[in-house]
Amino acid sequence: MIEITSSTKITGIMGYPIKHTLSPIMHNRAFSLLNLNYLYAVFPVAPKDLAQAVMALPALKIKGVNVTIPFKQDVLKYLDEITPCARRIGAVNTIVNENGKLIGYNTDGEGFINSLKEVNFETAGKKILLLGAGGACRAVALSLAWAGAKKIIVATRNATKAEKMIKETGLEQEVQTECFFLSSLPSEKIAEADLIVNTTPLGMAPFEDKMPDIPLEGLHSAQYVCDLIYNPLKTVLLRKARLKGCKTVNGIGMLVHQGAKSFYLWTKEKPPIEEMRQAILKYVGNSRKKLP
Ligand code: NAP
Repeated sequence: MIEITSSTKITGIMGYPIKHTLSPIMHNRAFSLLNLNYLYAVFPVAPKDLAQAVMALPALKIKGVNVTIPFKQDVLKYLDEITPCARRIGAVNTIVNENGKLIGYNTDGEGFINSLKEVNFETAGKKILLLGAGGACRAVALSLAWAGAKKIIVATRNATKAEKMIKETGLEQEVQTECFFLSSLPSEKIAEADLIVNTTPLGMAPFEDKMPDIPLEGLHSAQYVCDLIYNPLKTVLLRKARLKGCKTVNGIGMLVHQGAKSFYLWTKEKPPIEEMRQAILKYVGNSRKKLP
């Protein structure tokens, strides 16, 4: 545990509700390991107070914060500068206070791509099927396109949402795209994909026993199946994909890598990625420790 002094740099996370966040565990472990005089706190900001909370960051000399649900989009209007990448995604998950100037970044997409690299999935030239088209999907879809994906198929319960996401992000200018209703997704489209990514909340509490309704007969052993969900570690989708011989990837890698990038942006130090992952894994899964 670090000793808090007048020179301790404060970072943290703003969200609402925010009780179950694992980010303090990961970041405080990293600060302590590298002996950095930094602290990561939790800021439960009521939606009506977002503007005041963000605008107080320079006055309080807070070095930076992560921003999570429900503020990733709303926060853009209170920042001084937004990176082109975050602007395209339309969401900010990291704010850096550079001498009073608030700069907004999005590290989710890069975190996702880095999590694929860890399992030796090479995105360039690949066909990818995305299930869902919400906030996280926008970062994932654009990052896949920027990493050279050949085609992105988006399947949603409401096809206009997929089209809207593609249009708003300008995805179609980067990569070949196709949209489907989840309920009528042909099994050939599943079979065609090199990587399938669940970006819906189906598989996490309170939907642990659920998964997107897709024709599983299309799955085969040359595919990767990824779930952005990290708790539970093995969602219903990942368990079924394993039975079909697919390689599976849960959301822990994305969580750790997006956090690692935020850590770097605040400290300019190399993040201790493995230790950050191990710190989180103590609290994820069935028989794990309860959050303090
Ligand atoms: P979101 O903006 O609410 O988007 C959720 C998407 O899932 C929407 O397209 C939504 O469709 C769809 N959906 C919801 N319920 C569905 C259902 N019953 N059947 C079919 N589709 C359904 O949420 P998000 O912020 O993108 O987060 C999505 C997931 O990613 C969550 O599980 C979150 O925990 C995870 N995540 C993980 C990380 C990480 O670091 N690993 C980071 C961010 C998010 P509608 O638009 O029709 O509602």
